[in-house]
Amino acid sequence: MKQPLVQVVGLLAILGATNAAAQSRNFDSEINAALESAKTAAGFEFTGTLARICLLPQSGGEDTSDSLPVYIADPSKVHAPETWYAEPARVFDNLYFVGGRIHSSWALTTRDGIILFDTIYPYNSEELIVGGMKKLGLDPKNIKYVLISHAHGDHIGGAEMLQKRYGAHVVMGGPDWDTVAKHPNRYKTMAPRRDIVATDGMKITLGESTVTIWLTPGHTPGTLSYTFTVLDRGKPVSVAYSGGTAFNFVNNTPDPGIRNFQTYIDSQKHMAEKAAATGATVLLSNHSEFDNAFNKNRMLAGRGDGSHPYDIGSDWVQRYFKVMQGCARAAQLRLEQKVAEAKR
Ligand SMILES: [Zn+2]
Repeated sequence: MKQPLVQVVGLLAILGATNAAAQSRNFDSEINAALESAKTAAGFEFTGTLARICLLPQSGGEDTSDSLPVYIADPSKVHAPETWYAEPARVFDNLYFVGGRIHSSWALTTRDGIILFDTIYPYNSEELIVGGMKKLGLDPKNIKYVLISHAHGDHIGGAEMLQKRYGAHVVMGGPDWDTVAKHPNRYKTMAPRRDIVATDGMKITLGESTVTIWLTPGHTPGTLSYTFTVLDRGKPVSVAYSGGTAFNFVNNTPDPGIRNFQTYIDSQKHMAEKAAATGATVLLSNHSEFDNAFNKNRMLAGRGDGSHPYDIGSDWVQRYFKVMQGCARAAQLRLEQKVAEAKR
């Protein structure tokens, strides 16, 4: 069908105007504003997250290879325990830290068993998760659900072992189940049998506790985040658990980088909304560098009658997601700038 000439002319005028607007944009000042908003939001609480995604250089993209991880191919290359060992800790009445110095694993206890969040590496899940639970008086046989935030070796490492040994149900995002299936070498000893595929808003209920799953694609296509409630000396406290942080996707070319950053930003907005709706005052992550778990566990020991070191208030929880959005927006703007410069 022929377009009437007047419409075509009108369209060209609009395109011309858009193009001129794009050329007159001051990308440097927009990038600075995005970085500034992330820095302001981070304050002294989220310096680790700020450093990792705003300040440090980013890797170019995702790993698409299917080679054996070095710690599987050659166990003598496994990092020495003094680099990763951390003491397990009871953090809330019903939430226990059973992770390491860098990577975290959390056990939510209920009257009907345990929900475990993330499983660290294959080489330290036995000592830190199984050993840590026993040290704290928890029986790993009671693990009923294992929730994997995303299929990277530092979080899925113990999932196969826990599923085989204790019959625990494993929950993961659909795209990450597919990634595991496609890469038998990369996930050797770490690949649970395909089990529960997470959906947005899915509720995992065990005993008196319910964990709500939120799809937050970005870090990986299947990344999951959660909201749930814990008890602090009997008082209910809402938790937002952020499941993926670094820009681990193709991020160095405008296509698909700009789109990937948008997916990531949209996920952080989605999770921030859920955190606000549930009144989350605790922000948990699967890396100590993002939620300061390793240090906070030590602070907890000297808490006395003071406030809980993890209970930072809903404003700070919201600020966490602003850091993620600001850093991602700055990186996205750099790609938009590349596109605009190429058109000149
Ligand atoms: Zn990861």
